[in-house]
Amino acid sequence: MELCKKILIANRGDVALRVLRACQELGIETVAVHSTADSDSMHVRLADEAVCIGPPQSRDSYLSMAAILTAAEITNADAVHPGVGFLSESATFAEMVQNHGRLFIGPSPQIIATMGDKVKAKEAARQVGIPVVPGSEGAISSLEEARQIAQSIGYPILVKAASGGGGRGMKVAQSEAELETALSMASSEAKAAFGDDAVYLEKYLANPRHIEIQVLGDKHGNIVHFGERDCSVQRRHQKILEEAPSPALDAAKRSEIGRLTAEAVGRLGYDSVGTVEYLYEDGEFYFIEMNTRLQVEHPVTELVTGIDLVRKQIRVAVGQPLDIRQEDIHFTGHAIECRINAEHPLTFMPSPGRITQYHMPGGPGVRVDSHLYTGYTIPPYYDSLAAKLLVHARNRPEAIRRMQRALREMIVEGIHTNQPLHALLFEQENIQKGDYTIRWLESFLADRAAEESS
Ligand code: ADP
Repeated sequence: MELCKKILIANRGDVALRVLRACQELGIETVAVHSTADSDSMHVRLADEAVCIGPPQSRDSYLSMAAILTAAEITNADAVHPGVGFLSESATFAEMVQNHGRLFIGPSPQIIATMGDKVKAKEAARQVGIPVVPGSEGAISSLEEARQIAQSIGYPILVKAASGGGGRGMKVAQSEAELETALSMASSEAKAAFGDDAVYLEKYLANPRHIEIQVLGDKHGNIVHFGERDCSVQRRHQKILEEAPSPALDAAKRSEIGRLTAEAVGRLGYDSVGTVEYLYEDGEFYFIEMNTRLQVEHPVTELVTGIDLVRKQIRVAVGQPLDIRQEDIHFTGHAIECRINAEHPLTFMPSPGRITQYHMPGGPGVRVDSHLYTGYTIPPYYDSLAAKLLVHARNRPEAIRRMQRALREMIVEGIHTNQPLHALLFEQENIQKGDYTIRWLESFLADRAAEESS
């Protein structure tokens, strides 16, 4: 079956570059779109064609469906890749792309819509046999109802926004006395951020790990999983470091949750790359959400499986059947990703600006996905991800030493990055032993801050 001829990449930064690289290797032409702030961006330089779609603010450019579709029209692109973030989880955008007679490289608008609504997503997950966090069956309609449900689940309780994302619209209630405030705060935050004040309740897990399963389905009913990524090292619900395999799982547990997830998602008719996110505590998995798109940390999986997920994503989108079966997927060695952000390593203040010196590490087992170059100016309008630094080695201790070596080699001058924080993390016993949960980084940072001020 023919691949598409020309893909418009509706994104920027390292993600746009990642998709562009896959397209070039497949012999597919590329169209970059960019805001006026990104004219000098690497993805614009490397694409076959580039179209300016608006001013710096995302809502007027990277989130402007009309501008992007017009660009597709003008350049005669027959497919659109949404990348990560921006419109990648907009069912409306996926539908509009299709209505314009172009291929959307992602799953169907229906499944994007279902998974984008956390209440519906949880219900869908439960129905296909995915274990979920105990909680309310749907959105909460009164304080009285919330009280009863919270009582039956037990405190602490987490109030979550149905349309939530990026860790926003979440409030913990330690006891019944805090429930009313948590409900009203979560729902007003959700209203402000997502235009939807619906909230639901979940048991608040005290000290879980975040473990997610990468899946890939095609339009012919085939589905496989690529094992897990452990993304527990987080600050404010943002992942900082990811690795595979998870130090917390053995081979039996891995294949059990992988198989269960792939079968369940297959029952939903899922036909693209996707990730099912779980919290993992005391040997049990609890579904939190499904991302119906590529994820930032997908290269971790590419390193341990040797499979190019973006290339596969494009192939299944045009209707090609999967050319691998589960038994063809093998895991080799250990991979770690550090998200290098343009921010101050301790205050976490964003640090946009001009890169005066840029040198990325190389050598065996190192991969860098980044749109930076010497002389490039990081604009202040977008997220702070500057580079994904990855290593792959035979085992975890070797991967850690390789990452420490790579971090020492890396030079980014002119702005602040969190490189020193990553270097510090790998010196910690908890990281070295793989003994951490989603709470670890914040408590580590709090302890350090306390030490410094005393
Ligand atoms: P978002 O879409 O806003 O990222 P998620 O549901 O994926 O929201 O949750 C983000 C993070 O919030 C998780 O990685 C975890 O750190 C925390 N979290 C979510 N649900 C729970 C829960 N029931 N108990 C404890 N922590 C949770």
